[in-house]
Amino acid sequence: MIIDTHNHVGLAPLAQSLEVLAQKASAMGVVCGVITAGGVEDFERVRQTAQKLNWGYCVGLHPLYIRENWQADIKALSAFLETHQDDPHLVGIGEIGLDFYVEGLDRDRQEAAFKEELQLALRFNLPVSIHSRRALYRVLALMKEYPTVSGVLHAFAGSLDEMKQAVRRGLYLGMGGAMTFPGSKRVRTAAIQAPFGSLVLETDAPDMPPVFSETKKSSPLDLPRYLSELADLRQEDESVLSKALFMNSLSAFPKLKVLLAK
Ligand SMILES: [Zn+2]
Repeated sequence: MIIDTHNHVGLAPLAQSLEVLAQKASAMGVVCGVITAGGVEDFERVRQTAQKLNWGYCVGLHPLYIRENWQADIKALSAFLETHQDDPHLVGIGEIGLDFYVEGLDRDRQEAAFKEELQLALRFNLPVSIHSRRALYRVLALMKEYPTVSGVLHAFAGSLDEMKQAVRRGLYLGMGGAMTFPGSKRVRTAAIQAPFGSLVLETDAPDMPPVFSETKKSSPLDLPRYLSELADLRQEDESVLSKALFMNSLSAFPKLKVLLAK
């Protein structure tokens, strides 16, 4: 059984209906996913999609879309969390974080919004799904101020030292499409060196297409191949690894246990 711990299914038009996708996924062992929002405009959409698929969802402000009036967006996020805190599908806050790769973004504003969102994670007792590009050192530094907030470093691509710091901090490392490229040395090194208990699988669908994608899009249906790839890289038994990743996903997003029991 596989869980796609980070994707954006339902936010862009799909080649097939959501129901067909979920059926196909479940037939392939992909039993659940976590749909993450990009901004306030997505919240209702991810909630409805997650409900339809019996998947989980996260709401948050993506660091690429922190607007000038971001404080109003934080208020909207807080109000949404308040309203839906008892929704079993609402499993976390995301995707949130820092992006120092894209030029022209206001770093101070990103950091201020990220801190507010970590505060909300604390208040609503939810894990976070973190986006980080060229900014892991700051993400890890800021997270030190919130030692009890747990979460996943989505699309982990940090150094070996950052990997160790993240693992020590109890964060999970999301492994996806990048891992399938032989040239992704950092990602593959982390995938091989990280302890068993710190890894989770994800697609970021429809983004981060794997090396074998013909459409240049990713899909939760790719996950069985990601699992094989990871087992090959780590030279581990696929079924043993699969069980560990499944349990890690449930520990990363504890509310998924309730959903899977439904
Ligand atoms: Zn994403």
